Order: sequence, then structure tokens, then C-alpha cells
Amino acid sequence: MDVQPDLDLIRTLKATGGDTLKKCYQCATCSVICPLSTDGNPFPRQEMIYAQWGMADKLLKDPNVFLCHQCGDCTASCPRGARPGDVMGAIRAYAYTHYGWPKPLARLCASEKGLPWLVGIPTVIIFLMWMISGGMGIPTHEEFARYGYTHFFGHWGFKWYAKNIFFIVLIMVPSLGLALYSAWRGLTTMWKAMREEAGLEGAYRPSANQAWKEFIWPSFVEILQHKRFEECGVQHNRKTGHLPLMLSFIGLLIVTLWSLFRQDVLGLIYPSLHGPLPLTDPFKVFANVCAIALIFGIAVLWSNRIRLEKDQKTQPTFYDWFLIWEIAAVGITGICAELFRWMGMPVVGYVVYFLHLVSIMMLFLYLPYTKLAHILFRTTAYAFDKYRESSFAKQ
Ligand code: SF4
Ligand code: SF4
Repeated sequence: MDVQPDLDLIRTLKATGGDTLKKCYQCATCSVICPLSTDGNPFPRQEMIYAQWGMADKLLKDPNVFLCHQCGDCTASCPRGARPGDVMGAIRAYAYTHYGWPKPLARLCASEKGLPWLVGIPTVIIFLMWMISGGMGIPTHEEFARYGYTHFFGHWGFKWYAKNIFFIVLIMVPSLGLALYSAWRGLTTMWKAMREEAGLEGAYRPSANQAWKEFIWPSFVEILQHKRFEECGVQHNRKTGHLPLMLSFIGLLIVTLWSLFRQDVLGLIYPSLHGPLPLTDPFKVFANVCAIALIFGIAVLWSNRIRLEKDQKTQPTFYDWFLIWEIAAVGITGICAELFRWMGMPVVGYVVYFLHLVSIMMLFLYLPYTKLAHILFRTTAYAFDKYRESSFAKQ
């Protein structure tokens, strides 16, 4: 077979934590250890060969690459220090860039060289919006106590739709919209490529309802239960950090949706609902609990990562650390903004709230290109895994 190595893949893997790739001498110890491996599908040994040969095409169509949950057990057992778990992480980072759209934005997220832009773009957009809104003045203590951050972008006499909500929607909805469109393009391309690679092009196509019931919903349930994390040896307490983090994301999504409904729908009928939520409001209490769970979860994952790096069980990568910093920034600025509101400190509160908006926009806008993309790509790979094993695929 004539193999044309993809040099871009090899270069990217070396730069994103997969530089130990060449050390692999195919002993297959990792495939014995990895819970995803089967006799006919020796994971991750086979992928190590593909990566060594620069076979990007094969790797991008391989659901196992996305099913790998980065437990690190294979890395800990590799006799050559080839770090297969880290190589799998680097392949995923390459795939997120490959499937990402628009490409320049996806490439910016691929290395620390893009960091000034990654922070700069949302900072400039939000600053410009703040200027355009005319709401840049810092409120008095009385105003701050009464309105919190709901006048951050100023306010107008148009009682049915709050100016603050208008500007937040103007910033966040296009950011999330672009991310979701990009994710949709990437995931549908990946699904098609996986089907083709698995020889399922002529197989029976389930209806949307069948796909939801048979593959997508069971994948959500399995992910939520964190069953595969329980099998992790080296990182046995990953569930302790990842589970509260994931639940806090779901909780904060619920609060955000409620807040949008309250301000954008109910607020049109009852303009009084445009103010900040009282601290005793059940949704406010729930949001604060979620924020604490988020800080706790990310702190556990942060300390895990430091310990593993210290023990040389993994190596530091921009791809891993960027997500940790990003989530920590959302949690810390959110909690601090809340604290400064309680303490009645409008100047520092407004600065921290500005940083909070920047960190949220980063989380939304870069969703399909950073490690956070695993939420989408892993769920799709889970669903594909169930599909390829199902009677639909065998028909
Ligand atoms: S990555 Fe390590 S354990 Fe796996 S086949 Fe290569 S040398 Fe063996
Ligand atoms: S990190 Fe864990 S799941 Fe991923 S290949 Fe290694 S053993 Fe398998």
C-alpha cells in the first residue's frame, strides 16, 4: 500500500502533546489495558500506527479516537513512554481544527500563539458594545444596590424590552449561533465519514425518532452516569471533578434559559421582571449552587492535572489547560461579581462583570474548536458506536 503521510498531522500532533509518538514499537500493551479495545479492533495501538504513518484520513473517521475518555491508563503502562493517551488527545485536537469552521478561527484555537487573539476578540467586541450602548458610567452605590448589573449596558425608557438584555443577546446569540453552525457542519461531516469507513453507506437509515430513542438518548444517559470514568485506574477521582462540573453546566443552562424566557418573553408582558433576580429567588439560589459546583469541579480537575504532570503521567498542553482556565475564569468572575454586588462595590464589580462577559463569550464562541468540543464530538461518537452495533446497521 502506498501511504502518503500527512505532514500537517504529524507536525500538529508533535506540537499538541503527541511528540512521543515515534517511540511506539507496537508491543500492544496499551490495547490490553484500554477498555475500548477488542480483538478485532486493537485500540489505541492501531491508531498509533495510523498516527506514525501520518494517516489523517483514517484517524478522522475513527469513532474510537473520540470515545477515548483520556483516563491515561495506557500511558501509565506503555513500556516505551510513547504516551498513547496523550497522542489520542492530540489527535482529537487535530480533528477539532479539521472539522472546525471558519478555518482561521479554528486554527487560532489550536495553539498558545493564538491566545492574544482568543482573549482580544471578545474583549474588543464587548468593550465596543459597552461604548456603543452608552452605558459605560459606573453606577452610584444606591443604583448598584437596586439594579445590580442589569444596567451594565445602560437602560432606556422602552419598558417592554430591557437595553441590557438587548445588548447581551446581541453579543451572545451570534457567538453561540456561529459555534453551533460550525459544530453542525463538523459533526455531520464526521458522521458521514465514519459511516463510509465502517461500510454502512447502504445500511438502513433510522428515522429521527428512532435515532433519538435508540442512540442519542442512551448516549446522554451513559455520559451522565460517568460509567466509563469509574474504570479509570490512574485518574480514579476524575469523576469527582467531572460530574459536578457537567451537572453545573446543565444547571446553568437551565437558569440561562429561564432568564431568557423571563426577560425576553415574560418581560414583554410584565416589564417589572427586567430587574435583577432577588438573592432569595429559587433560580438565583440554584445558580449560586451551580457556580459553587463548577468551581469545585474545575478545582479538582486542575489539581489532578498538576499532580499527573508532576508525576510525568501526562504532559502539559495548551489544549488541556486552555479549557481549564476558560471554565475557571467563568466561575471565578461570576462568583466575584456576585460577591461585589453583595458588598456594594460598583467599580470593581463592573470590571469583574466585564471580564465575566468576556469569559462567557469565549466559552460560546470557541466551543467547537477547543477541548470543550468533546461534549459534542464524544456524544456523537457514542451515538455512532451504538448505531454501528445495532440491528439497523446490520440490515
Ligand atoms: S503505545 Fe506503547 S504500549 Fe502501545 S503499542 Fe506502542 S509502545 Fe506498546
Ligand atoms: S486514555 Fe484510556 S480510554 Fe484512552 S486510549 Fe488510553 S486507556 Fe483507552
